[in-house]
Order: sequence, then structure tokens, then C-alpha cells
Amino acid sequence: MKSGPRIHFKRDEESAIGRGAVMHGAHFRPEVASMVWAACRGSASFGWPELWVTEGWRPSSDRRDLHSELRAIDISCRHIEGDEKSRVNTAGIWAKHVASLLGPDYDVVVHGARSNLHLHVELDP
Ligand SMILES: [Zn+2]
Repeated sequence: MKSGPRIHFKRDEESAIGRGAVMHGAHFRPEVASMVWAACRGSASFGWPELWVTEGWRPSSDRRDLHSELRAIDISCRHIEGDEKSRVNTAGIWAKHVASLLGPDYDVVVHGARSNLHLHVELDP
């Protein structure tokens, strides 16, 4: 059985701001957990051995998005190799795969740059 990439959750001590992926039980309700499932399924053609969830909950004061409502997660693109342009391009292809698996109730966006390049995935029906 092919199990897909291993999922890691960033820990506080691995974060430059001292806050890793803050996950709560509500992140594992089916409609939110499916974002991680889709990130894995959507990465199948790339063959990446692991994925990192780098953000779950964060205070609403940080930015205007659905992280504070436990309806968004960030998944790092650090594992994508190459120059910045090709990394952003690969992340965009991955994002399209993930979006097509999740359907219209979700937004999948490539955010950040360099070591902070990531997919922001949110449930916004
Ligand atoms: Zn985000």
C-alpha cells in the first residue's frame, strides 16, 4: 500500500517566532482534515517523502484570514528544490492539484517567498 508523504507539524522550537503549527481538535473535523489529505494526494506526482504543516491557528490580529477560525492551514514548500522561479511554479502546479481535489468551497493560494513559500489552504464556502 502506498501511504504517501509523512505529515509533520512544525513545533514551537522550530519556528523563528516561537510558534509552530497550533492545532486543535477542530482542525481534524472532516472538512478541514481533508485539506491535509488533498495536499498529500495532490503531491503524488512529485513523490515528496514528507510535508510540513507550518501554521494552524493564529491570532486574528496577525492577518485577515481564516486561521483564527480554525478553517485554514499552511503547508510549507521548503522541500521544493530549484531556483525561486521554478519553486514558485512547482508550488502553483501543486496548488492547482490540491484545489481541484477540494472543490469550490476551498481556496488554495501560494503565499510567501524563499524559505517561507507555502500553500495557504482555507475552507471558505
Ligand atoms: Zn495561511
